[in-house]
Amino acid sequence: MPFQKPARHVDRVFLHCSASDNPDHDDIATIRAWHVSERGWSDVGYHYFIRSDGTLQEGRPLERTPAAQAGHNAGTIAVCLHGLAAENFTGAQYRTLIGLAREIDGALEGRVTFHGHCEVSPKSCPVFPYRAVLGLDGAGRMTGSRRDDPALPEETPISEDREPETVEVTSRGAAVRRLQRLLREAGYRLKEDGLFGQATLAAVTAFQEANGLEADGIVGPLSWASLTRKDVA
Ligand SMILES: [Zn+2]
Repeated sequence: MPFQKPARHVDRVFLHCSASDNPDHDDIATIRAWHVSERGWSDVGYHYFIRSDGTLQEGRPLERTPAAQAGHNAGTIAVCLHGLAAENFTGAQYRTLIGLAREIDGALEGRVTFHGHCEVSPKSCPVFPYRAVLGLDGAGRMTGSRRDDPALPEETPISEDREPETVEVTSRGAAVRRLQRLLREAGYRLKEDGLFGQATLAAVTAFQEANGLEADGIVGPLSWASLTRKDVA
């Protein structure tokens, strides 16, 4: 949906997670019910909610200040992504978030910064790597290259000859995509999405067990060697 710049002053966008992996909670109607019935608010605290399938849902009207970051609500837009465990956030959600952030950044002519709730709270919200997803600089501005790139971040190609980096749960990017491709070639069924989640972990530990490796789910030099069938010195 096209983002309409609100009349009220906005200079920061805050990102949140729903802190639930329950599919029944994957809807702004549920979050609205929590905020209205249980907290007694007039409306849901967030302006936008992004479901696991990437659907963008509208919440509190943009002209209204959110109720999302205690003491830091004025001048902000609040966006919530469904999810709790970092590995359960989806590429579809990230793509929607990137698209929305680009629209906001464009409508506000770059005079807006993006932040995690955790920056103004002791919470770990949002648990997903929002800086990497949005390609933020130290001040929270979207960086140009990422703004022009609708794909998932961290897609820099790695040389097949280079010693691959160690990856584990919540790792993401080209090395994970390569790992997933090698696992698929070895007969394991999983998506090649570059996100090291539960499905990748299950395949990795099964591969490690089947190949006499320590089944710790961490893909280091020995596992990479075994996956690429290279002899280890
Ligand atoms: Zn939050």
